Amino acid sequence: MSFNSRADVFHARHGDLHCEEVALASIAARFGTPTYVYSKAALLAAYRGYAQALQGRRALVCYAMKANPNLAVLNLLAREGSGFDIVSGGELARALAAGGDPAKVVFSGVGKSEAEIEAALKADILSFNLESIAELETVERVAARLRKRAPVSVRTNPDVDPKTHPYITTGLKSNKFGVAYADTLALYRRAAASPHLTVVGIDCHIGSQITEVRPYVDAADRLLDLVDALEHEGVHLHHIDFGGGLGIAYRDETPPAPEALIRALLARVDARGHGNKTIMVEPGRSIIGRAGALLTRVLLLKHGETKNFAIVDAAMNDLMRPALYQAWMNVKTVQPATAAEARYDIVGPVCESGDWLARDRDLAISPGDLLAITDAGAYGMSMASNYNTRGRPAEVIVDGSTVYVVRRRETVEALFAGESLLP
Ligand SMILES: *Cc1c(COP(=O)(O)O)cnc(C)c1O
Repeated sequence: MSFNSRADVFHARHGDLHCEEVALASIAARFGTPTYVYSKAALLAAYRGYAQALQGRRALVCYAMKANPNLAVLNLLAREGSGFDIVSGGELARALAAGGDPAKVVFSGVGKSEAEIEAALKADILSFNLESIAELETVERVAARLRKRAPVSVRTNPDVDPKTHPYITTGLKSNKFGVAYADTLALYRRAAASPHLTVVGIDCHIGSQITEVRPYVDAADRLLDLVDALEHEGVHLHHIDFGGGLGIAYRDETPPAPEALIRALLARVDARGHGNKTIMVEPGRSIIGRAGALLTRVLLLKHGETKNFAIVDAAMNDLMRPALYQAWMNVKTVQPATAAEARYDIVGPVCESGDWLARDRDLAISPGDLLAITDAGAYGMSMASNYNTRGRPAEVIVDGSTVYVVRRRETVEALFAGESLLP
């Protein structure tokens, strides 16, 4: 079974929504709701889109695991040869527990603690992606204490113009991320002179849910200018890491396929004479986003004066993107219509007006019906919380006609297991 990037991963068969060969209704019956359902084939197809476009090159895909850090997801990707982009010591532990190769791990983030740096140094990761001079000094200090050399890259801020590319941005002067473009060379000089640091690469990450190739090519040119300047000074880089951020089609967006993005980047790299370097990317959302859906059951329908509400058993704590970003999520019915169509806001039971999952959707539903919120594989479970003392959903991966539970539903007892009373 295979999916191209546009195919519907969650598809109706005789009126019943399926993930691969399995009816979602049977998953709800076996494992309850809310449950995150992922397609192994869709996950692997997305990864292979990147890997195949990079075939024959010195290249590494580092999956940005904050998009979805389930051990089974990481393990499937590790088995494909994927590396990992981590942003915490916790993510390092997950990458290692999932069988990830530390030599393929890059450590991003603006605030790495000394304990996290030490753990990553001891694990012999590929690169510390530095985001400030203060951080460079911290990494240097920890490396000196451990009598090691830390491999470093500088995350430069290419300041790609947002007016021409309106997207969620992290590569602007005004963002907290990265080192100002104009300061980048100075950091490299400092790193190259240090006995405790080894300069291995350069990186950037300009934003998320990017739906055009153009800003990547602009950022690539800015990075390659720095690579040229560094080589001129005798600092040679092993890799160039263009970050992640490629978008997916939630509604009517038309993001380029990973293959198209890679082709454009390789063309720039080759044209500028750096095709011999290891080319890296750090995709998160575009690897796992479309592979996942949140399966939820309608608890009841509430017909208000101006609005109808479908109150479902999933809530903002399970899927935060609508509450956090006003994100539009696709909602599909799982089984044939059971009632006349009406317009609903899909909301959860959490005591917040911000607790909504979708608004103004025309659905033919009754209490007890199942809904699938599709394209929810990225930044869904990874952002879930226990607000309102709600256990987080179960997670399952479908492989053909087999369903594997990869995280069991959190019990209420587990939620307060670490709490204690005063004497
Ligand atoms: C979040 C993040 C990514 C992945 O972003 P996506 O939009 O999920 O592809 C890559 N690199 C860094 C440094 C990140 O913080």
